[in-house]
Amino acid sequence: MPGDIAVCIKQVPHPDCLAKLSLDAARGTVNREGVPAVINPVDRNAVEASLRLREKLRNRVIALTMGPPAARKALEDALAMGADYAVHLCDRAFAGADTLATARALAGGIRSTGGIALIICGNTTIDSGTGQVAAQLAEMLDFPCVTDIEEIMPEDGASLLVKRAWEQGDIRVRVRLPAVLAVNAKINQPRLPNVLDIMAARQKEIKEWCAADAKVEAGCVGLAGSPTQFWQAGEFHARRQGEILRGSPDEMVAAAVDKLKKLELI
Ligand SMILES: Cc1cc2nc3c(=O)[nH]c(=O)nc-3n(C[C@H](O)[C@H](O)[C@H](O)COP(=O)(O)OP(=O)(O)OC[C@H]3O[C@@H](n4cnc5c(N)ncnc54)[C@H](O)[C@@H]3O)c2cc1C
Repeated sequence: MPGDIAVCIKQVPHPDCLAKLSLDAARGTVNREGVPAVINPVDRNAVEASLRLREKLRNRVIALTMGPPAARKALEDALAMGADYAVHLCDRAFAGADTLATARALAGGIRSTGGIALIICGNTTIDSGTGQVAAQLAEMLDFPCVTDIEEIMPEDGASLLVKRAWEQGDIRVRVRLPAVLAVNAKINQPRLPNVLDIMAARQKEIKEWCAADAKVEAGCVGLAGSPTQFWQAGEFHARRQGEILRGSPDEMVAAAVDKLKKLELI
């Protein structure tokens, strides 16, 4: 496959700490203070998929993120996993981006990197989880896009075979390169870097690019370039009418079934 692999990773709050997040309704942002950040879990599968392809195809793997200065840590983790170098799209102009503005910035980063034959994303993030970025990125670059991928099989230099999830089983798709693929968590088990990997990663380059470096106009990215904007957030408070059934197990089951039937739930 002529060309490199770009793997898009987003830094998100740690999955175990999602309950600690709150929405700042006034500013339209998620309040992440005091919550540790990690690579979006399925983006680690995307990094792993890129590294396994590199073993077969011998191209370079470039980790790419758009995010604040703290997102550099996500790139360091991807480098420790084995990515060759990283690009950090970091500029105040990128702040407040919706998915379209995010995809514009990433597309700019990919164009400016040059020589990319394959872009691998996660299917969706755990913080906002729109699942839109991969498809928007493909549209902007005029690349084909396949989502929900569980397996990638290199074919020849010009195409890949991929297996994607389907309600009744799976579908195999042949996709011409260059392409954008979005993977799901079933694709692999991401590797855990050891101390030597972490030390080796310190020697690898992280390019820090502003909007001008990515050749995107500041007005097309971030809040200024976002046609969707946070409007209002409401928190869902589940209110349950608790009722404890008493009696023998058989009596309790019979009473529960009776109640569910009356509520026309079964
Ligand atoms: C609660 C909430 C709801 C939101 N709803 C919307 C909405 O409906 N529409 C909208 O336009 N925006 C929405 N946003 C804004 C959205 O979170 C941002 O645009 C974000 O940068 C990308 O969206 P996502 O996380 O949903 O990406 P997804 O499309 O779920 O991400 C898929 C993959 O794209 C890649 N990717 C995504 N972001 C980055 C990044 N910054 N750097 C590198 N790779 C990346 C990763 O590989 C990721 O796994 C919402 C934000 C919040 C907090």
